[in-house]
Amino acid sequence: MSIRTRFAPSPTGYLHVGGARTALFSWLYARKHGGKFILRIEDTDLERSTAESVNAILEGMTWLGLEYDEGPFFQTHRFDRYKEIIQQLLREGKAYHCYCSRERLDSLRAEQLARKEKPRYDGRCRHWGAEPPPGVAPVVRFKNPLDGGVVVEDMIHGRVVFQNSELDDLIIARSDGSPTYNFTVVVDDMDMHITHVIRGDDHLNNTPRQINMLAALGSVPPVYAHVPMILGHDGSRLSKRHGAVSVMQYREDGYLPEALLNYLVRLGWSHGDKEVFSIEEMIDLFDIQNVHSSAAAFNPEKLLWLNQQYIKTGDLDHIAHHLSWHLGQLGIDPSSGPDLRDVIRAQRERAKTLAEMAANSVFFYRDLEGYDDKAAAKHLKPDSLAVLQELRDVLSRVTEWVPALIHGAIHQLAEAHGLNLGKLAQPLRVLVTGKEVSPPIDQTLALLGRERTLRRLDDGLRYLRGAGAGTSTS
Ligand code: GLU
Repeated sequence: MSIRTRFAPSPTGYLHVGGARTALFSWLYARKHGGKFILRIEDTDLERSTAESVNAILEGMTWLGLEYDEGPFFQTHRFDRYKEIIQQLLREGKAYHCYCSRERLDSLRAEQLARKEKPRYDGRCRHWGAEPPPGVAPVVRFKNPLDGGVVVEDMIHGRVVFQNSELDDLIIARSDGSPTYNFTVVVDDMDMHITHVIRGDDHLNNTPRQINMLAALGSVPPVYAHVPMILGHDGSRLSKRHGAVSVMQYREDGYLPEALLNYLVRLGWSHGDKEVFSIEEMIDLFDIQNVHSSAAAFNPEKLLWLNQQYIKTGDLDHIAHHLSWHLGQLGIDPSSGPDLRDVIRAQRERAKTLAEMAANSVFFYRDLEGYDDKAAAKHLKPDSLAVLQELRDVLSRVTEWVPALIHGAIHQLAEAHGLNLGKLAQPLRVLVTGKEVSPPIDQTLALLGRERTLRRLDDGLRYLRGAGAGTSTS
């Protein structure tokens, strides 16, 4: 049997981390077993579904690298097929028209609640022998089996048994003929030959109904795995209150997609004490049967830590691709300065996110707009003017603009003046980067290039002269 899994989001918002985790598990399962991963957009709720959400989901999937083999299929394109199956079920006596009015259903519900019973349809129209009431557009209900039970052998939750006596006759078509959610899922899972349904465990209670409908259609139900939800640090369901939940927000915040995937795969699953998994290792080692059945708590610090690991050790070209996006967000054209790979080499030990790395690398690409106030107050003293002037001349004579020679030149000058290196390197750093912190000064200058460095030193010396004039009067 060839494995076919699907991710079936409803486009009613962005792709959130819970959805991404479900998508990841389905994708991994298909990849591990040489199967196919299908993307299906469940957009039948016309009021809540939007084109922006569809785009956000597609964009999120692309950014995460969860490529799908088939789709995206849109349920709204399949209404004819749903109607056909509704007709088939009616014809075969497996579904029936229901004419019960809203008032009747409401009072039925109120009575059941008063008797402390679970509200459910009582099957009146299932047994209705008389003429249908005139002028009423009926809904269509599925004839759920009356007795027996449905066993779900869930890959995560184990065996879960539901009694048919607990289930009522589900509406599969509304009075306007539009199909309902549980029914479209069934038709699609059947038509798309889905073998493994991996989805959020908020759908576990829908599963026995779906299995009954599949059976009525003569289709073998897929294997189910219901993934527990993700909680925030306070134990409530993960939501905006807990910070970023949209996958694309993580991109904005400077996360690498594989760090987020790695974090999500480890959430509620472990493999010894291994923390960092390449995509290949995830495919190889992840086993959905070992995912905990209880909800997992989202830990942003751990995600940040993982992101840092990926930034420190990841492939330079790959990181460059993502860093370039971040620089673009800051209005910077990366071709206007040093090779991104060199910048990453210099910055990767000190950045937890790419947003941070981009912000700290702007000075390589764009003229300074001034100096950080605190850094200037601390390091740009008029009495260092003379030695900085000398440093400028020494640097202009460095034969080859490489870190070792730059370092040598700064070092020599510091020694000649009996200064420790920092006394020279710090003001120099502020003058060329605008800030107090940057990669090692020799690397920073090498990356910046001689011309830019000297130009900034000239500007800096001018600034210092001005500052000197200002302070001399005080
Ligand atoms: N469309 C459903 C949702 O977004 C998923 C249904 C399913 O996976 O069966 O929650």
